[in-house]
Amino acid sequence: MEQFDVLIIGSGMGGLVCGAILSMEGYKVCIVEKNKQLGGCLQTYVRDRVIFDSGVHYLGGLDKGQNLYQIFKYLGLMDKLKLQKMDEDVFDKIVIDNDEKEYVYAQGYDNFIAKLVADFPDEKDTIRQYCDKIKEVCSRFPLYNLRSGGDYDEKAGVLEIDTKGYIDSITTNEKLRAVLAGNNALYAGEGNKTPFYVHALILNSYIESSYKCVDGGSQISKILAKQIRENGGVIHRNAEVKKIVEENGIVIYVQLANETRIYARDFISNMHPVKTLEITQSDHIRMAFRKRLGGLENSISSFTLNIVLKKNSFKYFKYNYYVHNEGCVWTVGHYTQENWPLGYALFLSASSRSQEYADGMTILTYMRYNEVKQWEHTFNTVSDREDRGTAYDEFKKRKAEILIDSVEKKFPGLRDHIRSYYTATPLSFRDYIGTDDGSLYGVVKDYRDPLKTFISPRTKLPNLYFTGQNLNLHGILGAAMSGLVTCSAFLKNDSLIEKIRNA
Ligand SMILES: Cc1cc2nc3c(=O)[nH]c(=O)nc-3n(C[C@H](O)[C@H](O)[C@H](O)COP(=O)(O)OP(=O)(O)OC[C@H]3O[C@@H](n4cnc5c(N)ncnc54)[C@H](O)[C@@H]3O)c2cc1C
Repeated sequence: MEQFDVLIIGSGMGGLVCGAILSMEGYKVCIVEKNKQLGGCLQTYVRDRVIFDSGVHYLGGLDKGQNLYQIFKYLGLMDKLKLQKMDEDVFDKIVIDNDEKEYVYAQGYDNFIAKLVADFPDEKDTIRQYCDKIKEVCSRFPLYNLRSGGDYDEKAGVLEIDTKGYIDSITTNEKLRAVLAGNNALYAGEGNKTPFYVHALILNSYIESSYKCVDGGSQISKILAKQIRENGGVIHRNAEVKKIVEENGIVIYVQLANETRIYARDFISNMHPVKTLEITQSDHIRMAFRKRLGGLENSISSFTLNIVLKKNSFKYFKYNYYVHNEGCVWTVGHYTQENWPLGYALFLSASSRSQEYADGMTILTYMRYNEVKQWEHTFNTVSDREDRGTAYDEFKKRKAEILIDSVEKKFPGLRDHIRSYYTATPLSFRDYIGTDDGSLYGVVKDYRDPLKTFISPRTKLPNLYFTGQNLNLHGILGAAMSGLVTCSAFLKNDSLIEKIRNA
């Protein structure tokens, strides 16, 4: 009977980072992924010959020496990835309905400040103070800065800051408030809930530098998978874990949907922690622990519109748009049927075919799971692609047309550029990532009880660990850092960080 050192359930960013590091360190690793395609949110799909990303529209911190750059360099990704630096003078444009102006976020703090001050000349000190605060908060997170050590005391005092409350406290200028919170869809921001550290860690990485993956983010998972295999690792696709089986207080094997058992000494789950516990039968995991995790709220889901643009028709630009209705920057998710959508994010796909014209556009807006609940008994899995029926198709078409109408206010004539379009709902996310509710970014962070939403990589079973976005931060950077945290339970943390710093 083959026995692995480490079995990893799921091949999202967190799972792949664990697989790459542990296999590099000599562990005999096996990854089992329920989908045909590896990568979780790194998956891409092709429609009408155009590549679309499911969950990676841009990456921060990839300039030489920055945090994601060092992690990617250590993982052997940096010299293999096809990347495109976004416009230095604008990586995100913030647009507020009824205001013709496009407010810009530029790369590099000096540039970021200069561009905002140009639009808000009376708020120079406020904008500087805001940037200093972001940097100060980021400095309290050792791993984010690729330094070892640090304890809770270092972060104490910054975990309890409310993003909206902080921004409101530094300026009374409503427009500036909306602009500073403008791309909060990056973390499904909610007023009076989202902690400022989440805002700071994410925004800082994009201000430091912003990049797009040319031809999609799945190149990250492909390169990591190749390396894991070269290091002797085994990867099974189309292999859904149905049971994690414990005996005498330790996990012995996982059982796949086809009844195959895979044995290992240690187990890492890249599934949502709640889903992991659901398939783990063990008296050693107390009800209180299950209840605590089960009680955590997940972020809202989304409706995604992927547009294949007509050839040589829509000029490519190297930045994203975040558009909101006036007064709605913190409440885009609180829409009604009548006023949906209250905002959206718009991304152009970076393609190796042309830098002059875009071939794909993705528009993302929030959608609550209960809107598609009536079709939740239908599943699109690898082995079983169900037709959800004409009512579902009509629902998606209706929503897509409403969304396009809304986008046309900013981009008049967009319809004339559309060759075809494709949509994804919370059910698509549920089925492709494996969450119950299609949540965009997993567990919601809350400044009012920050510790409640930090999940340790260790579970109540000594050889079962968690990894992935739900541990401390979502995003490719966040999930990669979660992979480091999980690996540090196996390796000496200091030496791992040291290796990454010196990569
Ligand atoms: C729409 C969208 C846009 C985003 N945009 C960006 C962006 O622009 N930049 C950025 O940095 N981040 C972005 N993110 C966030 C980022 O993609 C995620 O935070 C990150 O990729 C999550 O990684 P993870 O390790 O938690 O694993 P996940 O991606 O959640 O993957 C988990 C894996 O586990 C597998 N799995 C689940 N159950 C089982 C089972 N029973 N057996 C076997 N396998 C199983 C799943 O199939 C999946 O492959 C976006 C996310 C979304 C949804």
